Amino acid sequence: MKINKFVFISVAIIMMLSGTLIHAGPPWTHAEQATWGAIEDTTQTEVPKMYPYATCAIGKNQSPVDLAAATIKQSKDQNRLGVWYEVDDAPVFFNNGSEVVVNTSLDYQGQLVVGDEVFQLIQFHFHSPSEHVLGPTRFPAELHYVHVRDDGRIIVVAAAVVEGERNETMQTILDNTPSTPNQKNENSGISINPMALLPPNYHRPDAWSMAGSLTTPPCTENVQWYFLQEVVTISTEQLEQLRAFYFNDYREVQDLNGRSLI
Ligand SMILES: [Zn+2]
Repeated sequence: MKINKFVFISVAIIMMLSGTLIHAGPPWTHAEQATWGAIEDTTQTEVPKMYPYATCAIGKNQSPVDLAAATIKQSKDQNRLGVWYEVDDAPVFFNNGSEVVVNTSLDYQGQLVVGDEVFQLIQFHFHSPSEHVLGPTRFPAELHYVHVRDDGRIIVVAAAVVEGERNETMQTILDNTPSTPNQKNENSGISINPMALLPPNYHRPDAWSMAGSLTTPPCTENVQWYFLQEVVTISTEQLEQLRAFYFNDYREVQDLNGRSLI
């Protein structure tokens, strides 16, 4: 039973990685984000398939947002996260053409637990500077942990990244990510624990939550966001190294349309 479930999740993960999250359809850049919704898939002849990124333009729950502009609803117990990542013996270091990404291996067991629901960690990546803002504050970078459940729902856990102490796991990622876009470093023999980017013993973090979307095409909605209240620190040199891959790979803030933080 456990194996069946695992296979099911793996198939979902593969679909996510090969389809929705990474490369579905026509190319796009952050520079043209104002018109992502109008990008045509020339292999298609019918609406809506001709406009695979239409949600970027017409979605009402788009991310990122200005968190300071949202009203805060009383927090609830089910909002509490359980972060149970563990060591991945075969991570894939991936320069996906717009971000530095680490894909977890297919049999990776690291999980996010929300209430009694379990979401698998499938990848994590960075944007610099941050995508979410707090009023006038845009952070030096933002870390996104992407999780998927076997029913296809997605949770992204986001952390603001600031300059401070050097992070050894960050260095491992930076040193092993290919400098060439769309290249993967598989079978590096290097193990990493995604937990190690976070503060020590950070299994029950305090977080704000909001409904949102992927911040890159196809801007899929039905993504639940959790914003960690503590920041991640990397050194100034590491921030520079991250920015040598990509800088300004962020999406502008989107309308809240009445959404609040929980
Ligand atoms: Zn992201």
